[in-house]
Amino acid sequence: MKVAIIGAGLSGLVCARELSSQHDVQLFDKARCVAGRMSTRRVEPDLQFDHGAQYFTARDPRFHVEVDAWVAAGAAAPWTSPIGVLQCGEVTLSENSPVRYVGVPAMNAPVKRLAEGRAIHLSTRIEAVSRDDDGWTLAAESGERFGPFDALICTAPPAQATVLLGEVAPQCAAEVAKVTLNPCWATLVQFTQWLPFDLDGAFVHDSPLSWIARNGSKPGRNAEPDCWVLHATQAWSERHVEQSPDQIAPQMLAALAAAIGKSLPGVAYQTAHRWRYSIPPQPLSVGCLSDAELRLAVGGDWCQQAKVEGAFLSGLALAETVVQWE
Ligand SMILES: Cc1cc2nc3c(=O)[nH]c(=O)nc-3n(C[C@H](O)[C@H](O)[C@H](O)COP(=O)(O)OP(=O)(O)OC[C@H]3O[C@@H](n4cnc5c(N)ncnc54)[C@H](O)[C@@H]3O)c2cc1C
Repeated sequence: MKVAIIGAGLSGLVCARELSSQHDVQLFDKARCVAGRMSTRRVEPDLQFDHGAQYFTARDPRFHVEVDAWVAAGAAAPWTSPIGVLQCGEVTLSENSPVRYVGVPAMNAPVKRLAEGRAIHLSTRIEAVSRDDDGWTLAAESGERFGPFDALICTAPPAQATVLLGEVAPQCAAEVAKVTLNPCWATLVQFTQWLPFDLDGAFVHDSPLSWIARNGSKPGRNAEPDCWVLHATQAWSERHVEQSPDQIAPQMLAALAAAIGKSLPGVAYQTAHRWRYSIPPQPLSVGCLSDAELRLAVGGDWCQQAKVEGAFLSGLALAETVVQWE
């Protein structure tokens, strides 16, 4: 079969890898690079930030095997830094946590590895999909058309998938529309001196911030300069969702100073990134949704679990579904 996959994040690329020995698979992503929410923001050669997923854990044996392969290939490693909880200036070290892994040298490394040698149309936003007797056709924002394909897989976030599928697969689109993804503001900051904070990562309570991480403490990164990623809570991100990055970064830095109870060093670089669709608060736990008659399957973390492992498992479920149509 000729298979089109919308989305070159982890779920789309795992699905592509599973299918590609038997099928002709093409991927489409609106971004300039693969990895979706596991992306890394590179500012200049020496400055990088994991601004989406911060780390991943592995519980399912199938994901364990995959992570072990990533580690063996040097694309991931355990992040062994002290991580804890920060509340009103007090820190509590987390104990008995599962192993936290990160991509090496950046969070996007495992996905980039999965992407090697695959047919991927980057910077290609799919605006519409249609189906006739020949199969699926994809229309890109640029005006380009791709197809026909025998099967279509969509791993875009639900809001985008609903728009794409609304007319051609209304039943499936209605199911997809039930799922939402929260927004999340991320602030990326390089300090001129070391931030006076003992932990390398912390879940923050009673603050506009939900999480802070010293990016350079992760394996394979430059330890200096001292670069941090700050994530805002869902509620704060929702309230400020339409503000500009220039407005957001100073507010989140003020929240960091308040949370650690100390004044901050000088700032050499700061910016903010809005994840309009970040985490699904209520994922479906079904692996994927599909319509065999239409040869259509829809997936992503939001179909399974709100994390990297969930995206991986959904990618497998998508491939298993397509294989049944052979
Ligand atoms: C701020 C943040 C923090 C997170 N922290 C963690 C964490 O610490 N641990 C953890 O395990 N998980 C975390 N996650 C979740 C994790 O990143 C996701 O579960 C996982 O990356 C989802 O992968 P995916 O393939 O399902 O979706 P995505 O990575 O979102 O991939 C979907 C792809 O579809 C593309 N796309 C969308 N619409 C179109 C279109 N119309 N045309 C073409 N392409 C399109 C997008 O560009 C994207 O690349 C976090 C996510 C965010 C945003």
